[in-house]
Amino acid sequence: MTTISERLQATRDRVRKAAEAAGRDPQEVLLLAVSKAHSSDELQEAFDAGQRAFGESYLQEALAKQELLKSLPIEWHFIGPIQSNKTRPIAEHFSWVHGVDRLKIAQRLSEARPETLPPLNVCLQVNVSGEASKSGCAPNEVAALAEAVSALPRLKLRGLMTIPEPSDDIALQHRRFRMLKELRDGLAAQGYALDTLSMGMSDDFATAIAEGSTIVRVGTAIFGPRQYRTETEA
Ligand SMILES: *Cc1c(COP(=O)(O)O)cnc(C)c1O
Repeated sequence: MTTISERLQATRDRVRKAAEAAGRDPQEVLLLAVSKAHSSDELQEAFDAGQRAFGESYLQEALAKQELLKSLPIEWHFIGPIQSNKTRPIAEHFSWVHGVDRLKIAQRLSEARPETLPPLNVCLQVNVSGEASKSGCAPNEVAALAEAVSALPRLKLRGLMTIPEPSDDIALQHRRFRMLKELRDGLAAQGYALDTLSMGMSDDFATAIAEGSTIVRVGTAIFGPRQYRTETEA
């Protein structure tokens, strides 16, 4: 039996090695612990082992854990699909939102972001897998979306995010992640200050780091397998 603390440490080591192998400073890569489907006790265990940034995908589940852990200085990232009727609680309870893929959602998040909090950090989700995936805006839509989102007062556009289709083909993984980086570099050349590439999960984060990832979203490698979820939260 390995503990969460041990798996977290092993994951940190793998992140560091992947960064070093790519000639990058390991400090440039944030390890986001994806804790969806895991209990607040498990989050507490990761927190006690030094983890501060946690990613959640399901709003009701996340709010319940936030309430239980509210005394801890956790940085909460919302990484799930965003329904427009959930934008207010998301804007109120998270520091980051990774999956913004249309303007209407961004506008609602901006309107709902409380003045008492700093601007909400957002990433635009891009579909780099073509027909193999449905989530995210198309690559040729990202420039217009970036322009509109960067004008919203209560959001801070930080960069791009992607979830490529699962694949064991390492060369394909590289191409998907490289596409996101090239899109980010293209926007940066137009003057956008985008410091974030949110890409890489348990099975492909080393490849993502090689292609420039600055946030890897890792669940299974830290917390172990999730119970299959049947609910699609109403
Ligand atoms: C669940 C999830 C992850 C983590 O996946 P693992 O394979 O468990 O590391 C990362 N990103 C998003 C958007 C997720 O929904």
